[in-house]
Amino acid sequence: MSKTTQSDSEPPADPAADSRSNYDHRSSDVEEPELVADLEALVEGEVRFDSYSRNLYATDASAYHQLPIGVVVPVSVADVQAVMGYCAEHSIPVLPRGGGTSLAGQTVNEAVVLDFKKELDAVVDVDPETGTVTAQPGITLARLNNHLEEHGLKYAPDPAWGDKSVLGGCIGNNTTGAHSLKYEKADGYLEEVEVVLADGTVTTFGWMDVEELHERAAAVDGDAGIVERVYAVVSDVLRNRTEGIEERYPDLTRNVSGYNFDKLLEDVEARGEVNVGRLLAGSEGTLGIVTEATVSLEPVPEETSVVLLTYDDVISAMRDVAPILEHDPAAVEVMDDVLLDLARDTPEFSKLVGTLPEGTDSTLLVEFYADSIEEGKRKVADLLADRLPGYEATGEPAADGTRTDGEIQAVDALEAYDDDRQAKFWKMRKAGLPILLSRTGDEKHWPFVEDTAVPAENLPEYVADIQELFDEYDTFASYYAHAGPGVLHIRPLLNLKADDGVDRMLEISDAITDLVIEYGGSVSGEHGDGRARTTWNKKLYGEDIWASFGELKAAFDPQGLLNPGNVSGDFDPTENLRYDADYEFDAGFSPEMNWDNENGFQGMAELCHGCAGCTGHQDTTGSIMCPTYRATQNEEITSTRGRANMLRRAMSGDLPEDVFSEEFIHEVMDLCIGCKGCKRDCPSGVDMAKLKTEVKHEYHQREGIPFRDKLFANVETLYGLGSAFAPVSNAAAKLPGTGLLMEKVLGIARERDLPTFTRKTLTKWDRSRTPAVSESEADRKALVIADPYTNYTQPEVGKAAVRALEAAGVHVEVPDDVTDSGRPAHSKSLLDKSRATARANVDALAPRVEAGWDVVSVEPSDSVMYQNDYLDLLSGPDVEVVAENAYSVMQYIDTFRLDERLSTETDETISYHGHCHQTASSRDHHAVGVLRRAGYDVDVLDTTCCGMAGSFGYEAEHYSMSQAIGRMLFDAVEESPGTEVTAPGTSCRSQLAGTDRTDGKPPHPIEKLEAALQY
Ligand SMILES: Cc1cc2nc3c(=O)[nH]c(=O)nc-3n(C[C@H](O)[C@H](O)[C@H](O)COP(=O)(O)OP(=O)(O)OC[C@H]3O[C@@H](n4cnc5c(N)ncnc54)[C@H](O)[C@@H]3O)c2cc1C
Ligand code: SF4
Ligand code: SF4
Repeated sequence: MSKTTQSDSEPPADPAADSRSNYDHRSSDVEEPELVADLEALVEGEVRFDSYSRNLYATDASAYHQLPIGVVVPVSVADVQAVMGYCAEHSIPVLPRGGGTSLAGQTVNEAVVLDFKKELDAVVDVDPETGTVTAQPGITLARLNNHLEEHGLKYAPDPAWGDKSVLGGCIGNNTTGAHSLKYEKADGYLEEVEVVLADGTVTTFGWMDVEELHERAAAVDGDAGIVERVYAVVSDVLRNRTEGIEERYPDLTRNVSGYNFDKLLEDVEARGEVNVGRLLAGSEGTLGIVTEATVSLEPVPEETSVVLLTYDDVISAMRDVAPILEHDPAAVEVMDDVLLDLARDTPEFSKLVGTLPEGTDSTLLVEFYADSIEEGKRKVADLLADRLPGYEATGEPAADGTRTDGEIQAVDALEAYDDDRQAKFWKMRKAGLPILLSRTGDEKHWPFVEDTAVPAENLPEYVADIQELFDEYDTFASYYAHAGPGVLHIRPLLNLKADDGVDRMLEISDAITDLVIEYGGSVSGEHGDGRARTTWNKKLYGEDIWASFGELKAAFDPQGLLNPGNVSGDFDPTENLRYDADYEFDAGFSPEMNWDNENGFQGMAELCHGCAGCTGHQDTTGSIMCPTYRATQNEEITSTRGRANMLRRAMSGDLPEDVFSEEFIHEVMDLCIGCKGCKRDCPSGVDMAKLKTEVKHEYHQREGIPFRDKLFANVETLYGLGSAFAPVSNAAAKLPGTGLLMEKVLGIARERDLPTFTRKTLTKWDRSRTPAVSESEADRKALVIADPYTNYTQPEVGKAAVRALEAAGVHVEVPDDVTDSGRPAHSKSLLDKSRATARANVDALAPRVEAGWDVVSVEPSDSVMYQNDYLDLLSGPDVEVVAENAYSVMQYIDTFRLDERLSTETDETISYHGHCHQTASSRDHHAVGVLRRAGYDVDVLDTTCCGMAGSFGYEAEHYSMSQAIGRMLFDAVEESPGTEVTAPGTSCRSQLAGTDRTDGKPPHPIEKLEAALQY
């Protein structure tokens, strides 16, 4: 049997297409089978009306949920037309959806959902001459911009989640981002748009002379179609409502409440033309379905410069915004004390926050665009000379620099000119939010007034009034985001499950919208109306404009089928909430692990707020989360969000299926590979791997443990036998037909090589030698753990660890009473076994640790097992002492700077692939640091899990998923300049074996360190 790698076997990218996998990502509970049959006959794409699909699309990043009628994944404009035409005939609502990152509930409705992100994501044409690009609506903004990079152009709207949200959604919400001081909202870039209308016909809207519009409107009669009726309404608006629009629309660059009539007026004034397509921007799917858009582009700025101004309180920072705007910055972003305190507590930012002057309460991050670094420095110097006189800036201010009036507010400044420092400042601005959203209790920071905007000069009074209001309601929020254009993200802390929680939400919304109007602002400066804010549009704009919204909607959508209720509709913001007083949760079992830090199992099961952070792609988002979503190319059920939503819905009694049914375990939980990527990459730290372990354990209690799981959980015994019978065991594994037999009998993928065992184990080798450094001459002593993979199949890795540590003066022993960490059983959710192993190991190790020994593993998943997972399984000071003194070998060397005692020499360039568990627990940098200090030029691959995930990749039904995930790693290796790839994980090395950059299995980093040693 020969190993099949990505080069000689191309398994289906989607495991659903592998007959061994048998995944269809759906449940057998299908609503409205006749409707499904009708739609299936009409469209080429998938029609999903099962309970899983409906629940997966029942939420977005908002506080709302509502079951859609079903989901269709269109693969062509014809599909979209067919669905719309059919639904029009049968009066069924339709909802177009992109990345589902909306924060106000725009993509939550009782409708047939059209998922554009899955298939319709092509770039149709880039025209650098005219500076435009034409693309399908399902492409993420990050991927769109990747296509434009070579032309020095970009699509300017830059929402924070542009690598997860898509062009159609961006248009739907009239999106913009942190640089809206320089750029327009999505409407300002929409040149031409192909739209499927509410009757299923398709049309294209583009620029039209305003007189032509009026002429066509005048010709409208009773038989007129949608397009002509729309022209009639638009003509009426332009002729008769101009005054009202000028009076009632806030004078802000950031207003996305209601339909954007103001943009039409602006265009007519600027160019005597009108583009009705621009009304689609911000229409939240209520006017038509975008199937293709041509958008104009902006040049990418040559250079940027950043300065972080510090303040004693948030009001002082707010006072400084208006004068700073006089300096023409590209962005002004505020971060208040709540977020700074949270960032201070993170390992990544504590140092940077620590450099802020004592007493810093708030900061403004100011960014400038410039043609050169010098110009960037000059702009910062100008600003500081004006707003912080006495500060010695890096650059020279211009003699005629801008000078503003008013009291000096800033206390200090930190400048940033290189990319790394600028990125760090920007990252810090975003760092606190994840922790803000990490509350596992019933009180959470909900989005419903989270993007109000007021003119920048009104910010100080506005914020002071809001603080007073929150005091009245006994709540608080943090103030952060785009202070420059006056947009503040404010999420009050509320318990919507409490009787009065929902009432308070409504009262706060009402009071804040009053304040917004008083200060000349907008109810929504960024995220849109949706379920949360549509109701306030009447208050913001008045009856007349509200009525014209209704007329526009009626012209576009006479039956009211397109995302009904949004923008001009009648949503009650307190209905269809994800949580309210009637919400109930029952896990249906007693969890086995320690959930104290997560507010119980329920706290973690309810932690996901749907932001869609786990739905980025490898090429644009990088990092780990979520490998299965990346491999299946946008299959929602394989994202962390999909799993979390399904689990919560099932445990709150909203799914017809039981969590512990075979179908739920197979379709929902099984493809979570337990990489723990979400624990780190999810902004709120949703730990799906831990949730899955509990659920699978309970499933085993009810249904029994499959034989193969028992086998994999007993790697120690199995490998011990393989080693004892080597080389016979190795020869037997290579006999023709063994692979097929293993697959038939045990379900082990026939494509995988079985490990090659050795009788010369690490423990035997250690027993046969005298340690090179005696206990008395060493100042550290380490127990190097002979895990089963290292001990029985790759003792050379363990030997390299021993030799490198001894070269650094460490006294080393390889214990033979502690080998298996319990990881194999733990990853198979056999908690009784993993706990028993953990107990035995802690009993054996704790006294030795107390006596000064450190516990060192070469296998990263083992070190993380000792460091983290033991604390989930056991409690007590002995467990803690072992956890605190357990290290991976590279972490050990780095932590105690043992490599400073080594003499090394090399100039090799190598690629480094980290282990997902280690990366997820932020311990992966150690190996890179040590290798670099040893002389290696290390290219750190931005890779997700390798796809093996313990035994996962060996299992026949998981083979194709494993390879699909692995292919992302193979591609990264291919593109890396490294001559060889190194990886600490045994599984990762097996997955990489045979790829172009490896001759056999790639080495462990400790082997590379040893190879560079000059003895
Ligand atoms: C963490 C986070 C940060 C965010 N940061 C920003 C930010 O900086 N700036 C900002 O403006 N927003 C921001 N948002 C809100 C949201 O991400 C943006 O509005 C985004 O553009 C929505 O894109 P989407 O693909 O997720 O669209 P969806 O949420 O799927 O849809 C948005 C709307 O567009 C409609 N729609 C989707 N596709 C089509 C189509 N083909 N035809 C017609 N209508 C369609 C939908 O019906 C819906 O009403 C943020 C959200 C989150 C969770
Ligand atoms: S799992 Fe995390 S990243 Fe994904 S949607 Fe939920 S909160 Fe967002
Ligand atoms: S553990 Fe890994 S595979 Fe599972 S949900 Fe989290 S990121 Fe995805």
